[in-house]
This record gives sequence, structure tokens and C-alpha cells, in this order.
Amino acid sequence: MTAEYDRNPFSGAWLERRSETRAEAGWVQQALSEPGTRFLVSSGTQHLVRRSPDTAIAFLDASHPLVRDYDSDQLVLLGWFQGVRCVLLDTLPGTSGLPAGTQFEELRSLLTELPEPQSAVLTCARALQVWRSRHRHCGTCGAPTRPRQAGHCLRCTSSECGAEFFPRLDPAVIVLVSDGDHALLGRQAAWPAGRYSTLAGFVEPGESLEDTVLREVREEAGVHCSAVRYFASQPWPFPSSLMLGFHATASRAEPLQLDGELEDARWFSAAELSHAGARVLPPRYTIARRLIEAWYQRATGAALAVS
Ligand SMILES: [Zn+2]
Repeated sequence: MTAEYDRNPFSGAWLERRSETRAEAGWVQQALSEPGTRFLVSSGTQHLVRRSPDTAIAFLDASHPLVRDYDSDQLVLLGWFQGVRCVLLDTLPGTSGLPAGTQFEELRSLLTELPEPQSAVLTCARALQVWRSRHRHCGTCGAPTRPRQAGHCLRCTSSECGAEFFPRLDPAVIVLVSDGDHALLGRQAAWPAGRYSTLAGFVEPGESLEDTVLREVREEAGVHCSAVRYFASQPWPFPSSLMLGFHATASRAEPLQLDGELEDARWFSAAELSHAGARVLPPRYTIARRLIEAWYQRATGAALAVS
């Protein structure tokens, strides 16, 4: 697939969703009877994978006992992946009878090892799993919910209520604040020693994304920023965020004042970041890293080479 835009890891249209097919009444039978259908098996927020010969999703086909024995409420039509129908099978904890050489693992442990298309599919599956687990009961009346629309809607079973719930995302901004060839980065106490990254925070009700950028930078680092410009976005299903990346500018003359959320924040020169390398920078698969690399390229005219 050719990228239609400069996308970040975990995104990209690898999954052809065909949302119009979710309303088809016989979708489960179609999935089970079609020989090519691949079942992606999850248990909670873990997914069935194999580590050998390469790390990959351990898809099952419809003939496997785990698939045959399952209730249709546990199935979610993800879409078509690499040309074939792909269905999420949401198993219970402690599921036995797994194929040899497979195990359940968290997406985080697989981030740097899975092929890009597969990590994008698991990003979708994990977000749906988190949503399903948190909406087993109606938020309006407390009655149990049941899936509809091939698992993409959970509907309250009370005939007097019937509220419908759809997968939700929590938008969060992430911003690289710069002043010429200096970038403002912060660190949280729980991060690896020496690691710094861009500032980030959740969008609150009543805020535009730009409002959130201004507020978060002011709250976390005590500086006022301007020239807020959208950069790119990245799905981040830990548990259900959509990271919206921005660049902004501020003045290094303004003293930093931390609000306690960050252990430290300071300005790094481009040369300093280039020399500090991987010890300081966030991982390559993050939009934070992409924000820093884009700024560095613009500020210095060269790519950020990190050993
Ligand atoms: Zn209800």
C-alpha cells in the first residue's frame, strides 16, 4: 500500500472496514462459512500471537474449536484485512486449547516487533476490546447490553431504555513547543532515566484542540505559547486515546514553572538533542518522536540522526 499521507505508526488504512456490511443480519454465518475468514483472538486486552519464526498475529480459521464453540455475541467484524474477512473473537480469561506456539500478549510488548499492518489491526482490536469491557452494562439504566451492528454498537437490553453505545475515543493533544533551534521537553517521574518528551494532555469539554494546547503548556510548564499548528494524529489505544499532534512556539525568556505533573521540563538545543540521542528521545513509534524530528529538520535543515 502506498501512503496517501505522512502517517504515524499504528495508523493507515490497512483494514478495509466496509461499515455498510455491519448491518447485514447473516454476517456471522457468512464469516463462519467463508473458508478464508481469519479470526483474531483476544482475551481482555491481550491478543493471540506467535513469536516464531517471526512475531505475528496467530489468526485462526473457522474450523478451529475455539471459533466453532463461541457465541456470536463474542464476535466483532473488524473488516477485510489483506483481502480477507477479519473477525475479532473476544474470548474469556483462561481460555485453553490454544494452537501450539501461540500465547496471549499485550500490544505494548509487541509494538516494535509486529509488521506495521498487523500492529494497526491490533490497535483497532484493542480499542474495541477496551470499549466492550467498559460497556457491558447500560450507563443510563444499568441493564446488560448486547452487541449490534456486527459488534460495533452495544444496545441496552431494557425495552424501556434501549440506549445505544458506540466505540469512543479520548482526544488528547501532544505538542512540540519550540523557540527557533530550541525545543521545550518535559519528563514524568515514571519514565526511564534521562527520557524527555513533548507535552501532552486530554481535551476537556468545551475546549477546542488549540485551547487545550495553550492550557496544557501553561499548566505543565508555566509558559504561554502561540502559533499553534496541527501536525498529524496517531491512534493510541492505551486505553482509548487519539493523539493529536501540534507544533507551537514560545519564548525561552519566559521562566518555566512546573505544576507538579512533570518532574522536570527544560529547553533543549537542536545540537544537544542530536548528541543526547536515544537516551533522551521518546521511542520511534510515537508521534512525540515524529514531532521532534519534524521540528529538528525545519530548525537545522538536516534529519535528526540518532545512534
Ligand atoms: Zn438502559
